[in-house]
Amino acid sequence: MSATLQSYIGGEWRNGVRTGQDISPANPGEVVAEVSMGDAALAATAVEAARAAFPAWRAMAAPARGEILRKAAELLDQRAEAVGRDLTREEGKTLAEGIGETRRAVQILRYFAGQTLEPDGETYPSNSPITFLYARREPIGVVAAITPWNFPIAIPAWKIAPALAYGNTVVWKPAEIVPLTAVHFLQALVDAGLPKGVLNLVLGKGSEVGKVLTTHEAVDAITFTGSNPVGRALQAEAIQHGKKVQLELGGKNPAVVLADANLDHAAEHVARGAFLSAGQKCTATSRVIVEQSVLRDFQDRLVALIEGWKLGDPLDAATRVGPVVSQDQMETVTGYLDAGAKEGGRVLTGGTRATNLGDGYYIQPTVITDLRKDSRVAREEIFGPVAAIIPAQSFDEAVKLANDTPFGLTSSLFTTDLSRALTFANDIHTGVVKINQESAGLEYQVPFGGMKESSSGSREQGKAAREFFTQWKTVYLDPSP
Ligand code: ADP
Repeated sequence: MSATLQSYIGGEWRNGVRTGQDISPANPGEVVAEVSMGDAALAATAVEAARAAFPAWRAMAAPARGEILRKAAELLDQRAEAVGRDLTREEGKTLAEGIGETRRAVQILRYFAGQTLEPDGETYPSNSPITFLYARREPIGVVAAITPWNFPIAIPAWKIAPALAYGNTVVWKPAEIVPLTAVHFLQALVDAGLPKGVLNLVLGKGSEVGKVLTTHEAVDAITFTGSNPVGRALQAEAIQHGKKVQLELGGKNPAVVLADANLDHAAEHVARGAFLSAGQKCTATSRVIVEQSVLRDFQDRLVALIEGWKLGDPLDAATRVGPVVSQDQMETVTGYLDAGAKEGGRVLTGGTRATNLGDGYYIQPTVITDLRKDSRVAREEIFGPVAAIIPAQSFDEAVKLANDTPFGLTSSLFTTDLSRALTFANDIHTGVVKINQESAGLEYQVPFGGMKESSSGSREQGKAAREFFTQWKTVYLDPSP
């Protein structure tokens, strides 16, 4: 067990008001770390530290800010195996995924370091012949970043790296069950020379420290990834207090498998989208809409594939699926499995908690079919290793079913028909569309976000990130007569 984890405010490690425990989901008897949990007063101190650090950080040349991010990327790269291992210990995704996600955070830091050399404005022809008319993007000020547990280093990286690159200071509240990964990410930036107060980490419960972040007058913008109810409540409060808000929320992402698809390829990618990281991705595949004529054939391939995947200790290199993150999450997912049984569902594989793996929060990868149309399993975000199979009589019906959800984050289509691929890409209401690829798995240089209930505010990642983390200033400059 390591030392007690603390918050980091104004360049100093700070104790909170009580101690919590960071538990291993694979082995809940193992305490990964003790955590000193902060309260609202500590969060307010963090906001004030960020506000105090803002003028100097804003004034630093953008490429100099980029150099710090680049250095942090190098340090995190050197530490990736150890950081990825700690990520796996506290979150439960496999070691390959934990290390892979850490390296993704490295790439994101490098990308936004590079963005500090990109143009930051535009010049316009003025209606006056003597006026130099230009518009430039400036930082917003203090950004609060509230992040979830499912990508404990990549999501913070894609919020914090652009916030810092574009000249903002940050108060970061990570999900309370992944504090160790948060400390590692922060440490790389601190060791790279980030000035005091530019990034402040508050360890604590969202329900206790969240209100300060949404209401404090010194917070200018809030970027949030998490659940719909928390995100919407936070948005309402933050908007009332005049803040800019960006939300990334849930998904109920469809994969459509057409009769002409390569079914082995489709099964592999559906399995990856549905079950890697134990299905705990907002981009995970959770509805598999299959053309009736290949339904049986596809189901058989998918089930055979999944049954060959090892469920178990995420630190074991042979494991494909680890535990879900917490007891709460396990109870939520098993609650959905029970509901599925009552809603007429027929389980093709899985269907319960795995009982042969000790106390760990393991749920068998589950494929379920014959659900009623209004079934909660077919309609609500589960955030676990559960895929619902839904038959469709035609391509048109498949698209209709795919769009029949309040969410609109990602989608997949498996086909060899180019025309249908293009039609699907046009007609599907999701922010990300994958053709012959799993619904999860993002690249960092392109915009990411959803439609309908899945997102609010401008997109994350790629050049699109600049939109949220900056504001325009328009300058009319005439020579003095
Ligand atoms: P998840 O299902 O991913 O845990 P949550 O919406 O519960 O989704 O959590 C996402 C993030 O929001 C976490 O960092 C959590 O601590 C934080 N959070 C939870 N409740 C609040 C709140 N009332 N105000 C602000 N942040 C909160």
